[in-house]
Amino acid sequence: MIVDAHLDIAWNAIADGRGFLGPPAPRYLISRPALSAAGVGLVCATIYTAPALAKRAMRTRFVYENAHEAHIMGVAEVNYYRSCELRLIRDARELASYVRGWRRGQIAAVLLMEGADPIETPSQLGAWTDMGVRIIGPAWSRTRYSGGTRAPGGLTELGVQLLKAMRRKRVILDISHMADQAVADSFEMWRGPIMSSHSNARAIVPGDRQITDATAAEVARRGGILGISFYPNHLRKSGVTTLDDVVRHALHLARAAGGPEHVGLGTDLDGGIDSRYGPIHDLRELRELPRKLRRHFSARQAEGIMGANWIDFLGRALPAPTESRRASSR
Ligand SMILES: [Zn+2]
Repeated sequence: MIVDAHLDIAWNAIADGRGFLGPPAPRYLISRPALSAAGVGLVCATIYTAPALAKRAMRTRFVYENAHEAHIMGVAEVNYYRSCELRLIRDARELASYVRGWRRGQIAAVLLMEGADPIETPSQLGAWTDMGVRIIGPAWSRTRYSGGTRAPGGLTELGVQLLKAMRRKRVILDISHMADQAVADSFEMWRGPIMSSHSNARAIVPGDRQITDATAAEVARRGGILGISFYPNHLRKSGVTTLDDVVRHALHLARAAGGPEHVGLGTDLDGGIDSRYGPIHDLRELRELPRKLRRHFSARQAEGIMGANWIDFLGRALPAPTESRRASSR
């Protein structure tokens, strides 16, 4: 089973009219039939909301000016996933039974909130875990909780409260998009499961959107995992991207993390990529990746990177069924 830890499915459907249930829109690769055909069985489906100042927001009016608007948009995205009857994985037992019974063609999702502004106050986190949110990345650009991409800064006071509430509710921390200071602040206070859903190696592509080798090593030391993004600007500084770029980041991050069991995919293939410029032009090309990974990794390690590593991590990091009930009660 291939696992993709970062897809902005609901945002694309609501903000851009790229529905999930039919074939992919032109120059776009993601949809339920496309994922099924490619052998993807589990995704982290995001609740991504764009602040009104974001550049990508120029193309859409689906943007927020304040936390309340972000909240409404986030709920709309959860409802979109419901309308698609996308099966949500809420705890470790549900994950295990889904993986055991999985047949090609089936898709399930773990809900990941990218940018935490839809959570109006940390005390409302329970409403989101009730809706199925199991992973939160506090930042995108800067949010009320954290410094973010090209917006330096640490965790805010509200951010510290949010992380405490996340720990109580057994939510996983996603450091992708967090500014360096916010990552450092998180390492200092966070004792729960940690991951980076879609960030590549800064040693290959400079810039604060990518993670340093030291961050990769620290996430790995805590049992976490690093998802490789297929976003062209995250794969290389310039020029045409191919799956070889994906392999290059996998190899680098595996070395930095101390082993390939800490590496997976978080393609972000629908994060605003025009598929003409991405490393694949049809999702079925994902199947060529294991063969390329085999140049550097064993068959088992390549299988791990394609999906098994995420399944292992989520099996450890998702709440147990009893904890999940706790996560879901206010
Ligand atoms: Zn992102």
